This record gives sequence, structure tokens and C-alpha cells, in this order.
Amino acid sequence: MPVFLVGAGPGDPGLLTLRAKHLIETADVLVYDYLAAEPILAFAAPECERIYVGKRAKAHTMSQDEINALLVRLALEGKRVVRLKGGDPFVFGRGGEEAQVLRAAGIEFEVVPGITAGIAAPAYAGIPVTHRAHNTAVTFVTGHEDPSKDLSTLDWSKLADPHQTLVFYMAMSNLAQISAALIRHGLAAVTPVAIVHEGTKPAQQTLVTTLENASADAERARIGPPAIVVVGDVVGLREELRWFDRRPLFGKRVLITRQAPSSDAFAERLREAGAEPVLAPLIRIVPPEDAQAAAAAVRTIGDFDWVVFSSRNGVERFWQELAGAQLDARALSGVRIAAIGPRTAEALQTRGITPDFVPSRYVSESVAEGLLARTKPSDRVLLFRAQEARDVLPDTLRHAGRAVTVVAAYRAVRAPVPDLARLVERCDILTFTSAGIVRSFVAQLEDAVAAARGKIVACIGPITAQAARDAGLEPGVVAEEFTTEGLARSLVAAR
Ligand code: SAH
Repeated sequence: MPVFLVGAGPGDPGLLTLRAKHLIETADVLVYDYLAAEPILAFAAPECERIYVGKRAKAHTMSQDEINALLVRLALEGKRVVRLKGGDPFVFGRGGEEAQVLRAAGIEFEVVPGITAGIAAPAYAGIPVTHRAHNTAVTFVTGHEDPSKDLSTLDWSKLADPHQTLVFYMAMSNLAQISAALIRHGLAAVTPVAIVHEGTKPAQQTLVTTLENASADAERARIGPPAIVVVGDVVGLREELRWFDRRPLFGKRVLITRQAPSSDAFAERLREAGAEPVLAPLIRIVPPEDAQAAAAAVRTIGDFDWVVFSSRNGVERFWQELAGAQLDARALSGVRIAAIGPRTAEALQTRGITPDFVPSRYVSESVAEGLLARTKPSDRVLLFRAQEARDVLPDTLRHAGRAVTVVAAYRAVRAPVPDLARLVERCDILTFTSAGIVRSFVAQLEDAVAAARGKIVACIGPITAQAARDAGLEPGVVAEEFTTEGLARSLVAAR
């Protein structure tokens, strides 16, 4: 089996190649260094062995020789080894040396290029490394983070060319010498410089300065490695082109507490708003205590005038029961259908069913009102929903003479999140999408009120907000539309 020398890209997991993601997902062993971002490591299977080999200037955890030997040993053990490197493995990543060692040991390898920081970090800072109006070349240079190494191997007279963009890696500890050398060899002291720290990550910081001031400004702003230093006129384009750090939730970490896959679209939406989603699924969906009731209701579905689906989970469960009874969507002919919320409606639509009624507000009170307007007394209504749902809807309908059957289609139970306290601590915003999730949150923390202090508590609707208040958590944001999309919108608006 070959060893895979894989570029992890600059940090944003979205910049991983498809090949890299597949290899990480199927690896037996991941050998990685400090540039590999946590969300990328999370793609590995739980049983995958993770070996951190460090490699940070001055704080090497393992020497390059030890890393080389490790790769050879793991490969000879027959393991599927992924050597994950920040950016591109062959750009200042010593991937070339590792490949040579593998070749010498007779071990096959595959190289998966990654997006190198020298392109990605400037791009995320709004700086194109080339622009027709400004330069005709771009040069990648190592600034030799290790100050014991000599900068004299660089040909300064060639580098000091105003028609090329210079992109320095590992330049922070030698910034003063680098700037001085470039000025000495003819670049204007006022040549624009951008320093992009932790590029493409939520912690990205960009400092724009000039050659003569770069070192002092970086020190004042306390910007250290990892950073890319861009020298040249293209830096001036940032003002017009910056996009990443202008996003409304840029730099904010947001705790997402609902379960996958329902959390996917929400996480993506938050990412697009500039936030970093932090996943902590506090509930999971399991069958109801009485599994027979759902099966029985589905078998006799033709006896109902209306069926009300309250979530995508309910729709999924309904179709499982249909299949179990060797029925299909035709069993619903003649039955009218209500879907509470756009995702529920979507789940029905993908099964060929267009709901007759989707309320405009997704709380029981509004749903009841809409259903009463569409039904007549004595109509038989099936509510296919979560076991722990509130009684407002059935009570209101019954009160008005409708024959209501409530079936628990599924149940949301607490899911333990082992490192919840740590995840919460990292976040700026905590989102809650049901009262049950709030209760799971509180149950799993020693002191939920203290843990949430200084953070924005954001709730999907009034019922969830009330549950938060009951737990002593004051909601700073309550969605106007009671969907995750609505919650994301309210978070953006609250900025
Ligand atoms: N192979 C990597 C480079 C490794 S050298 C690549 O292709 O990107 C390590 C240097 O890369 C750091 O000192 C820093 O200069 C740069 N670097 C890596 N990731 C970075 C990031 N997210 N933001 C800014 N610079 C980064």
C-alpha cells in the first residue's frame, strides 16, 4: 500500500481536495503536524490512529529523521498511512524529502497537492497575488523561520523587483532583516506589505503596512507565525477586494447543538456568514417507547382526513413504516397533509407529496389556527410527531371538535457530548433549536449559567427561548422565523 503525502490546505476545511478528504476518511494512521486544522482531522474515522509529529519553529516534537523513519515503519506494517501536511506537501513542507526516503526504502507513495498558504492566505485577505495592472510574476520565498539559518542564500537583487509580488513563508522572526535587505537592494521603503496570520481560518488577522514599518507594526500588533507576508503593489487591492473578514459573523465560533444531518444546512449557512460552526449534538433521534402505535396508524392511514407532520424525522419515520407495511405513498391518496416548516415540506416533496398546508409561523398556536380554518368538526386528524411534543395543538383541535389521534413517531433523547465544557468555552454564540436541547445542555454541564456567561444565547423560537430562561440562560437572540435559516438570519441581523 502506498503512503499518501497529502496536502491539507491552509486551514479552511472547505479548501481540502476531494482526494484528500477521501484519504483522511479511510486512513489507518494519520501523521500530522501543527498546521493541520482540527475540523480536518475530524474527518478521520474514530478508530484511526493519530500521530502528532509537531514541527513548529523551535519546538520540534520529532526530528525530520524520526518522522521519515516513522513513515517507513508504519508503511512496512501494512497500514494505510496518510502523511498530512499543511498547505501543499511540496511547497516548503519537506514533502520532497519524505518522498525521497520512501523511494529509497522501496515504498510506493502518492502525492496529493494542496492549496498552498501563499496563495490562499492572500486570497482570503482580498489580495490577488497577480493582477495585470500590477505585476507579471510572483515568487514564493522562504524566510527561514529558524534564525540560525542564514538569509544570505537569497538573491536579494533579484527579489527586489517592483514588478513581482513576493510571498514569504516562515518570515516572521526575520521580518526586520528581510525588509531591510529588500530596501537596501532597491525596493521603495513605502512598498505595501500585508501580513496574513492564520489565513483562511476564523482567527485570520491581516495587517497592512509598508516595508519600512513591517517589523515594528507586526510586533506592536503581536502578529506572529504562522503568517504569510506579501510584498508588492497588489496589497493595495485589499481595500477594494477584502471579503472574508467583512462577513457579518467573521471570527465568531458558534455552537450547534442539534443532530446531524439536520445541522448540516445550518452549519453551512453560518459558515457562509463567516462563522466557524462547532458541532456538539446534544440530542439524538430514537424510536418512540411505543413503536407499535406509529405502525398501526400508518396501516390505517386512509381512515384519516388529515395527517400533520411536524418534522423531517417524522416524515422519514412515516415512510419507514409504510415500507414495513409494504405500502407506498399511494396509501396517502385522499388524505390531506400539513407540514410544519419548510424542511418538513421539502422532505415530503422529495417523496412526491406536496403538502396542502404549510403554516406561515411554526408554533403550535399558528398551526392550530390554520388547521381549524381548513377542517370541519368531526374531521379525523393524525398528528405524527415527536413523543415529547407539547399538547397545545391536539388540545386546541379537540376543543373545536376535531377527532385527534396523536402518534409518537420518534423520540429525541439526550446525547452525551464528552468535551462539551471545552467546546462551549471556545464559542462566542450558543444556538438552541429545541427546548429538549436546552435541557440536555443544562444537564450535561456542572454550571450551565456560568458556562454561558458572556456568550450570546440564540434560540430558534419562543418555546426554546422560554426553556432557556427557565434554565437561567437569557436569550440574546430569538429567531423571527422559527427555522435554522431564520435563526441564522437573526444572528446576522443582530450583528
Ligand atoms: N506546505 C505549507 C507551508 C509549510 S511552511 C503550504 O504549502 O502552505 C509553514 C509556513 O506556511 C508558516 O510559517 C506560514 O508562513 C505558512 N502558513 C501555513 N499555513 C498558513 C496559514 N493558514 N496562514 C498563514 N500562513 C500559513
